[in-house]
Amino acid sequence: MLPTPVYLNGQYLPLDEAKISVLDRGFLFGDGVYEVIPVYNQHFFHLHDHFLRLENSLALIKLPSPHSLSQWQKILTPLLSDTPNQYIYLQITRGVAKKRDHAFPSPTIAPTIFAMTSPISLFEGKENGVKVISLDDSRWELCNIKATTLLANILLRQQAVEQNCAEAILVKDGKITEGAASNVFAVINDILTTPPQSHEILPGITRKIILDIAQKNQIAVAERTISLAELKSASEIWLTSSTREILPVVELDSATVTTGKPGPVWQKMNQLFQDYKRSVS
Ligand code: PMP
Repeated sequence: MLPTPVYLNGQYLPLDEAKISVLDRGFLFGDGVYEVIPVYNQHFFHLHDHFLRLENSLALIKLPSPHSLSQWQKILTPLLSDTPNQYIYLQITRGVAKKRDHAFPSPTIAPTIFAMTSPISLFEGKENGVKVISLDDSRWELCNIKATTLLANILLRQQAVEQNCAEAILVKDGKITEGAASNVFAVINDILTTPPQSHEILPGITRKIILDIAQKNQIAVAERTISLAELKSASEIWLTSSTREILPVVELDSATVTTGKPGPVWQKMNQLFQDYKRSVS
């Protein structure tokens, strides 16, 4: 099987031939945004939602949107492999300026556009659940932008990994925001609860899909702030993201969550989510 190509600025290339300049503002400043789009059985999953979030991220960093939804679909389709579960990583930076300068280059330069595909291993941690720790949310004030500037997220995730945990759940002023690379849900008094959308969290596509599925299936939901104390007494905790789907948490800060096994609401939602995925791919 031939390895799938990657896309760089209008060309399809083998991964090891895709090169960018050291003056690329993505390399120098992390001046760019990205998307991670799941593809199941060669069908893009919620491409429209990912496109809208990308447009929003681009607008918030004042980078003109380079392509329409149908142009993106055309660009990304040749990257797909035969793997049933994969994701497209798509990154756009402000491009290669003549010199290193914080201010935007003037006149405007062409952005750098890069995309590649990778397989998703969907079952990691699902059966037995995962351990997490809570950490202070040390990130900036614009977490609604899906920016490539991820140093704070990286340091937080690494701290979790060094304590044998799959994720760090972040806490700002005593309230849960999200995971280092995921959104957070909790079952509190039988209500599926998640922090509200704001500049403090990424508007997760998986989060949105779960809220839709819950509403269609008469599962009570609330979008409201959750304190760390409340999270610690929740009967279930989940992490959600495009590559990990819905991951049950069985241990928070070394304390067992209920029975230490994925809970009944997770079992139900995971089934509904898998059924929904099958229905659209
Ligand atoms: N929050 C953060 C900080 C993330 O990086 C991600 C994606 N990895 C998410 C939430 C989940 O978003 P999505 O469901 O769109 O993957």
